[in-house]
Amino acid sequence: KMDRRITVPPARDELSELADTFNHMLERLEIGFKQQQRFVSDASHELRTPVTVILGYSDLLSRWGRSDKEVLDEGISSIRSEAEDMQQLIEKLLFLARADQKRQVLHKERIELSELVEDVMRKMKLVTKTHSVDLLQNDEGVIYADQVTMRQMMRIFLENSVKYTPQGGHITARARRLPDGGHIMLELADDGIGIAKEDQQRVFERFYRVDASRTKADGGVSGTGLGLSIASWICEQHGIEISMESALGKGTKMLLKIPLAGEKPPAERKD
Ligand code: ADP
Repeated sequence: KMDRRITVPPARDELSELADTFNHMLERLEIGFKQQQRFVSDASHELRTPVTVILGYSDLLSRWGRSDKEVLDEGISSIRSEAEDMQQLIEKLLFLARADQKRQVLHKERIELSELVEDVMRKMKLVTKTHSVDLLQNDEGVIYADQVTMRQMMRIFLENSVKYTPQGGHITARARRLPDGGHIMLELADDGIGIAKEDQQRVFERFYRVDASRTKADGGVSGTGLGLSIASWICEQHGIEISMESALGKGTKMLLKIPLAGEKPPAERKD
């Protein structure tokens, strides 16, 4: 492989500084390019599975669908469910693509966090029949944030809690003002399967799933491994620090340290 690095005689300080900067940029570009290639190949791989299933059922339908009512029903519902999974996957890929290109729009405004938390939890409770969902504490605090993505971020954590907690489990949320006066700690917790120490960092990587072999077909959950990378991007955009407490078989707690907005609205920023 050709080496495009620039070398200069050691005496020429400014020039060597320039060369360092250039070499650093080149490295970053190469890493970025590799990541992009990997993203495309992982995404294609993930899309291949539902397409294969859809094609399989289409064959089945065209052969037996007219004569066998059972085949017809199962074929239609399977195709529908695979297509829905595919649609969700595509939405997530598009979100990350926009984020990467800095085209994902955030409309930040001053909002009352407790109202947002209350609303997300109320809706979560409404749609969750298999687990209990409770809001244990909801301290007030004004934050400067984008409503849409903040809700999306909370839903990702909560839906994971439902997915990775056996039926009958407990999902809780707690928002408490920290003594530093500048933050609210939002804790989203479950008493589900938990995440092993060695996976706790990796789950935020794109496409990473702890048990990638389990799919809907064998009674597992279907996942994309993209939810947490989207959630962590949203947190990053809002200056929210994420930490995790989790133990296998015990459950998972996500701790989100959310900065409160100052007294005055932040100056309009054009970035
Ligand atoms: P997925 O679509 O697979 O849920 P995520 O990026 O949201 O993708 O999560 C990545 C992986 O992290 C999941 O596949 C799962 O193994 C693990 N995980 C996430 N949330 C939890 C949780 N609350 N409890 C246990 N495991 C979790």
